[in-house]
Amino acid sequence: METKDLYKVLEVSKGASQDEIRRSYRRLARKYHPDANPGDDGAEERFKGIQQAYEVLSNPEKRREYDEGPRQFFGSGNAGQGAGRTAGGTAGGAEFQDLSDLSDLFGGFGNLGDVFGRATSTRRQTSPKGEDVTVSVKLKFAEALEGVTTRVGVPVEEACGDCGGSGAAPGTSPRTCPQCGGRGTQSRDQGLFALSTACTRCGGRGSIVETPCPRCKGAGKTRSVKQVKVRIPAGARDGMKVRIPGRGGAGRSGGPAGDLFVVTRVEEHPVFKRKGDDFVVSVPVSFVEAALGAEIEAPRPGGGTVRLKLPAGTQDGKQFKVRGAGAPRTRRSGPERGDLIVRVGVVVPKKLRRREREILEALAEERDENVRAELFRRAGS
Ligand SMILES: [Zn+2]
Ligand SMILES: [Zn+2]
Repeated sequence: METKDLYKVLEVSKGASQDEIRRSYRRLARKYHPDANPGDDGAEERFKGIQQAYEVLSNPEKRREYDEGPRQFFGSGNAGQGAGRTAGGTAGGAEFQDLSDLSDLFGGFGNLGDVFGRATSTRRQTSPKGEDVTVSVKLKFAEALEGVTTRVGVPVEEACGDCGGSGAAPGTSPRTCPQCGGRGTQSRDQGLFALSTACTRCGGRGSIVETPCPRCKGAGKTRSVKQVKVRIPAGARDGMKVRIPGRGGAGRSGGPAGDLFVVTRVEEHPVFKRKGDDFVVSVPVSFVEAALGAEIEAPRPGGGTVRLKLPAGTQDGKQFKVRGAGAPRTRRSGPERGDLIVRVGVVVPKKLRRREREILEALAEERDENVRAELFRRAGS
């Protein structure tokens, strides 16, 4: 853990008032916010440091402790924060919403996990971009093969239109929580270190809604299902993810909307099995066709047939490739379509008429063969 001078980090003097600290934090957070400095790791580090410093210096109790001995504060404060977050159960976002004057800028970006270099994967949640939404769509075999335009219901969370997201009934506004003074956190002395937990009165929001908005019941958000038209490309396979930019949840504070991901669920076909961009079809052939060779037809996905020439002596399970009779490729490389794999299954008659039996018996006599001789030789018996 670094032991930087938190006052220097926030660019204030040691005797700075809470107001000065808050103003400076606001200015610096705006300047170094990751969304304002995409790809700039230095800015992100700086932003984390600023958050961290503010977390301490904005809290009079922690500030006093820090003034008394910064090293010790950090050695234990880290653990304390972790414990507090677990106990609060609402993650860092809630704890940081007491910075109500900033949440309007960044849509409640704060995340204590970030401050301590953990849970950086939650970055996306904290940016003002709307949430990404994933829905699945069921497709019939033919729809997936030919492509289809369909509508999907997308559940989205949006700021309540009646209260503008504040959660307070129109005409009223939330007031600062008297228990935590708007910070959303409470500190308790736990022997060596201070344990920070979400405020019990406001649940970490830092403000209290006295008259909840009737529409969203104080949540500030409403859930609705919007219908989105989706074009599924020809050749879509089961489990494919189609991304539709900007059709996810609405962005906060004027941020861009999230993305919509549509996962295709393709109905299984009783005959055609998909394998990559190829289809596999099992085609029965009679043992006479297999032995003599034949021209046969096989069904083609999407209708019609393909013809193929079975050579004399075709073995059971033999596969033939019909080029270009598979699924249209959704990726732009290689041929336009996959192949159809015809897997031959030799059918042996279950019943024979007398004449057929005689013919086969004559054949057996003629061939006088032992088809297992090779097996036994290799088995060493
Ligand atoms: Zn509302
Ligand atoms: Zn509170």
